[in-house]
Amino acid sequence: MNPRNLFVTTALPYANGAFHIGHIMEYIQADIWVRFQRMRGATVRFVCADDAHGAPIMIAAEKAGKTPQEFVAGIAAGRRQYLDGFHIAFDHWHSTDSPENTELSQSIYRGLRDQGLIDVRSVEQFFDPVKGMFLPDRYIKGECPKCGAKDQYGDSCEACGAVYAPTDLKNPFSALSGATPELRSSDHYFFRLSDPRCVAFLQQWTRSNDRHGQPRLQPEVLAKAQEWLGEGAAPDEPGGAAVAGGKLADWDISRDAPYFGIEIPDAPGKYFYVWLDAPIGYLASLKAWCAKNGVDFDALLADPTLEQVHFIGKDIIYFHVLFWPATLHFAGRKAPDRVNVHGFITVSGEKMSKSRGTGISPLRYLELGMNPEWLRYYLAAKLNSRVEDVDFNPDDFVARVNADLVGKLINIASRCAGFVTKRFDGRLGPVDADAHAAFSAGWAGADAVAALYDGRDYGKAIREVMAYADRVNEYVDARKPWELAKDPARAAELHTVCSTALRAFADLALLLAPILPATAQRVATMLRLPAADWSAIGKPLPEGHAIEPYQHLMTRVDPKQLDALFDLPEAVPAGGDKAAAGKAAAGEAAAAKASAGATKTAASAPEGTISIDDFGKVDMRIAKIVACEAVEGSDKLLRLTLDVGEERTRNVFSGIRSAYAPEQLVGRYTVVVANLAPRKMKFGVSEGMVLSAGWDDPAKGPGLFLLDVHEGAQPGMKVK
Ligand SMILES: [Zn+2]
Repeated sequence: MNPRNLFVTTALPYANGAFHIGHIMEYIQADIWVRFQRMRGATVRFVCADDAHGAPIMIAAEKAGKTPQEFVAGIAAGRRQYLDGFHIAFDHWHSTDSPENTELSQSIYRGLRDQGLIDVRSVEQFFDPVKGMFLPDRYIKGECPKCGAKDQYGDSCEACGAVYAPTDLKNPFSALSGATPELRSSDHYFFRLSDPRCVAFLQQWTRSNDRHGQPRLQPEVLAKAQEWLGEGAAPDEPGGAAVAGGKLADWDISRDAPYFGIEIPDAPGKYFYVWLDAPIGYLASLKAWCAKNGVDFDALLADPTLEQVHFIGKDIIYFHVLFWPATLHFAGRKAPDRVNVHGFITVSGEKMSKSRGTGISPLRYLELGMNPEWLRYYLAAKLNSRVEDVDFNPDDFVARVNADLVGKLINIASRCAGFVTKRFDGRLGPVDADAHAAFSAGWAGADAVAALYDGRDYGKAIREVMAYADRVNEYVDARKPWELAKDPARAAELHTVCSTALRAFADLALLLAPILPATAQRVATMLRLPAADWSAIGKPLPEGHAIEPYQHLMTRVDPKQLDALFDLPEAVPAGGDKAAAGKAAAGEAAAAKASAGATKTAASAPEGTISIDDFGKVDMRIAKIVACEAVEGSDKLLRLTLDVGEERTRNVFSGIRSAYAPEQLVGRYTVVVANLAPRKMKFGVSEGMVLSAGWDDPAKGPGLFLLDVHEGAQPGMKVK
């Protein structure tokens, strides 16, 4: 088989914030695939870029007192530490705000225009007369046309769930200036996706196979695409396009100045909508890589063996299986070969959300000194080829890393390598041929593992590799080199057993090298092996092969590190949503005022007492326990759902499991500290603290008594 020639990308992250764990999962998934292909001899260009354009960045930059370019450069400067930290080896990191992207976007647009696929139509939109700009939907607020809830966004109501157009809002206002927006019309440029040529092309492209005879889309992605391309179905994903009258709607690709983006040729004051030039950033990044490495970009793209493969999340399927291939095809370019879609990452079953503060901070993970390969291994063990969400469960993480990765894999080397160095001058002895054959008897084999990597079924690949490791461990357990070492008469046996196990360990390290590149490199140095050559698997090292002394390869996870990763007090707004951000800011200001007052009174207060002002800072409220359950994985905690007289209930964890069964508490009233900063815990976010009584010294007697409330008090009442 000829080595593959690959151009691989991950989705471009929007340059308005640091990476979150979802980005890192996607990069790890793609990086494993790329490393595997390289081990098999493929030539791969693996690139990404910051998605820099659009109104949200323009507005964020203005708020930060920076130009959009400065703002984006600041974000870009923070990327490297994450990528290096998790061993994600992109060949190039670029920006969509670059000369390459400008040139490519304008040239692709001209190609579409020459095909007669660009229309100009007048569109009525809200205009902010104070800011002098047309407002994106998310910057228009008003009252819900259905239920009348105030302060709702221009696209949907958070109170009743209604979906509508911004022009349907009652009493609309600009979220930027507060001004009442005016309806104005303006010319917009449309890509005619509804053109029969586009529809026919997409019908064919989405259903066809790649050059290896594999479907280019996963079954569930193809089903989605068929739904969108089919008769009368409506897309349930954001995308700006809708299906009208049984065909795809045309795609509005222009925005009016002022806009941070790329100018549309021959259309003064018009810019490409960010989603037009973002995927073109894949090509721009490749082009910049080519320039840096003296490769002819046009010749590379024209090479018929080049395969273009994208890794993306399930939220942007619409853009990548409809707009992107059609844009490329009708601009006279090659459409992607594959679009590989993954699900989201959840943490202990909860969907990640920036504002609620659950999730894992990748930077904190690294700052705590946690091994990046633990996360690579854990995520790989959970990833498959389907569009499924992946759950990060802390207990499962500890178990898999400590029991499998360290307990099974690393353990083989740590039990055998030292003897070879100390007793046999660091040279391998003969192989125990029967044992070696027994390791792989009935085992799927390296080719099967390769097929699983290629198909992104990493979880299954790991299971196969670990099945092999189990056999090697059984052999070491049965032959007990540490016992053999006590008897000088059995030195030859000791040499054979350790050498046989180490040869198998060399294969195991190579089989896992795409997932554990740093460990594989250390093993390669120790065993004097090629580090990343798939063809070396199954070719046992010869007798007399010299190895380096054993060096420590990997530590176990300390569960305390996970506590530190999750138990992170953070000032997330208690409301937990966009609307609450303002509330939190107001709270901060109030707290600042209160603490300023406290310093003054503290000076005159006797030691050991607090002032009434200090006490007043604690906001205690009556809470009704509406639901209560045990927390799986914790013998201390109960999860309480509290009605504190707010629009939504609160989630509070309390360490009272030893004293109460969950069903005893449902319906009871108690007191909650309502203004405690929400606390990220392993099991979720705790939004307050219920009060209970007990002795600090357990010798004084059993104790944990939840405070009761006299009949008649209502949820939300202040306790003072
Ligand atoms: Zn509503």
